Amino acid sequence: TKSTFENIKKTDAKIEAFLTLNEQAALKQAQAIDDRGVDANNLLDGLAIGIKDNIVTKDLKTTAASKMLENFMPIYNATVMDKLNEAGMINVGKLNMDEFAMGGSTEHSAFKKTKNAWDQTKVPGGSSGGSAAAVASGQVIASLGSDTGGSIRQPAAFNGIVGVKPTYGRVSRYGLIAFASSLDQIGPLTRTVKDNALVLNAIAGQDSHDFTSSAQAVPDFTEGIADGVKGMKIAVPKEFMGEGVQPEVREAVKNAIATFEKLGATVDEVSLPHSKYGVPVYYIMASSEASSNLQRFDGIRYGFRAKDVKNLEDVYVRTRSEGFGDEVKRRIMLGTFSLSAGSYDAFFKKAAQVRTLICQDFANVFADYDLILGPTAPTVAFGIGEELNDPLTMYLNDILTIPVNLAGLPGMSLPAGFANGLPIGLQLIANAYDEKTMYKAGYAFE
Ligand code: GLN
Repeated sequence: TKSTFENIKKTDAKIEAFLTLNEQAALKQAQAIDDRGVDANNLLDGLAIGIKDNIVTKDLKTTAASKMLENFMPIYNATVMDKLNEAGMINVGKLNMDEFAMGGSTEHSAFKKTKNAWDQTKVPGGSSGGSAAAVASGQVIASLGSDTGGSIRQPAAFNGIVGVKPTYGRVSRYGLIAFASSLDQIGPLTRTVKDNALVLNAIAGQDSHDFTSSAQAVPDFTEGIADGVKGMKIAVPKEFMGEGVQPEVREAVKNAIATFEKLGATVDEVSLPHSKYGVPVYYIMASSEASSNLQRFDGIRYGFRAKDVKNLEDVYVRTRSEGFGDEVKRRIMLGTFSLSAGSYDAFFKKAAQVRTLICQDFANVFADYDLILGPTAPTVAFGIGEELNDPLTMYLNDILTIPVNLAGLPGMSLPAGFANGLPIGLQLIANAYDEKTMYKAGYAFE
């Protein structure tokens, strides 16, 4: 733990992944583990982990990278934090992100711009950019992120590491600062597939504090991980290999297909005809949920309040005007509009209907296949500042990850080569609660 902090202090001037270090408490926890003796049967015991700053940590500042929560000190732990603690993992600090997890480059943080671990002129992806860069640069062996439309998988892809969004309901969201509650899911980012399965083992399971967490039994995700993919049926949606995908990325996915075939899997082309509507459906639904979830930041209950306010309305208006960044305001406006009486049927309701069609597309494929394969993101990491003022281009980054959240399925990104010195991410998608198949295939491939 000591050397972890030494290394973070040395490298973070360059990477800028951390918002808050948890040094005192972490060293104390490490000492306690030393005193009781490391459990040789628990591979996670005493290892350092970094935590995305939208996961609440008792007595440790949790900001969601927003000025709104700049000095917010939670009085309780997210369920995943209690679980990591039980597993002996040591939280060394909180990681940078896009404000309230809205974004795909970590440039929307109110505090700093995290750099890509491979090239510091490039973005680390987002919104879990700090979580990905910290692992890829060797600061921690694992981190937690959250994924609403791609926020674990896309930064994992951009940094050449393994990132998993578990099935919706697999991991408790209690203590995850809500963005879009029907889509949000916490998951691990690691350097290897097996590490990832180990961390998911630690954090998964039903939780009485989150009624959307599932009663499904939690298997040991490492069990059978080395069994290989012989006989596995893999589907590649043709919509995932189309125009907007950078040629080098498409090439890397084709190579991955050849590898899986060589390992004994069969690979066929399929269609997810409604996936092309994923981005508009997501931006209506996620923004609607966000506009509702973010009502609680009213200048009274949490954190920031504007100065010299005159009356109650002034408290609300000025606190929210000054406390939220541009991207968050954009989502609140879009969401409030979509939910308003005059637009609900045309926007929110329509989006909910198309979401059902997207779910059915996946169900049709999983009736015949074990796994879906494609790129994680259409391109490799882009330059810092390049897409910041172009929200629509930024939104299209998640075109290949968003359908997975809309259907509640588990998805993994893992490294599959390089283009111009930057990592390419391969995405594996499994049926609900079938993370094991995804881990097995990822392990065979890496
Ligand atoms: N980039 C997407 C967005 O901006 C996804 C974010 C996420 O998964 N939290 O909403």
